[in-house]
Amino acid sequence: MTIAENINSIQSNLPTSATLVAISKTKPESMILEALETGLLDFGENKVQDLITKYENLTKEIRWHFIGHLQTNKVKYIAPFIYLIHGVDSLKLLKTINNEAEKNKRTIRCLLQLKIAKEDTKFGLSKTEAFELLNSNIFAGLKNISINGLMGMASFCNDEQQIEYEFSTLKSIFDDFKSSFFSSNPEFNILSMGMSDDYKIALKCGSNMVRIGSTIFGERHY
Ligand SMILES: *Cc1c(COP(=O)(O)O)cnc(C)c1O
Repeated sequence: MTIAENINSIQSNLPTSATLVAISKTKPESMILEALETGLLDFGENKVQDLITKYENLTKEIRWHFIGHLQTNKVKYIAPFIYLIHGVDSLKLLKTINNEAEKNKRTIRCLLQLKIAKEDTKFGLSKTEAFELLNSNIFAGLKNISINGLMGMASFCNDEQQIEYEFSTLKSIFDDFKSSFFSSNPEFNILSMGMSDDYKIALKCGSNMVRIGSTIFGERHY
């Protein structure tokens, strides 16, 4: 199957309300060019340096998503152009993003990453930590960021019930936060969950943004 065929077959499983983000990490620009042919414009990377190189070389129409663990000292490099930062997991990082956004005279869209998997290797905030962040005075003072929703990763396992449980948990946190903090803010509307192996379960649980790499571009070789 070609990259375009892979994308079309995933798109046919997505409701029109859901966005496909093609995760192009470790993959060459030639593959992104193939994906662009299908009209797809959302791409995600998890390394700042790779993201910048690709941003510079490819069409500026691409909406670049940052999906990895973002170090505060690297925010400045992506602040001028990043479309959405998926993995925000601390107030410190959010403050840095806000400062860099201000310098660039823009608002940067962010998702809070919640830890839903049972493994403890995964980054992310607990529900309580996220609640405290959203409730804090410091957060209230950050004018150059916007929290557009939540992101989470399920456990790497074959237990579909476990994965469904984790995604459903994130969906209920999303609904809870939406009514507690964002009831008058329509911008809080993204629930980013689902990857190659579990995106169908994620969609069933209410995801409206899936991040898919290997099913589009093939296995990664690090
Ligand atoms: C790599 C990655 C993906 C895509 O993973 P695939 O299994 O290749 O689809 C999605 N989200 C995050 C956060 C990732 O790091």
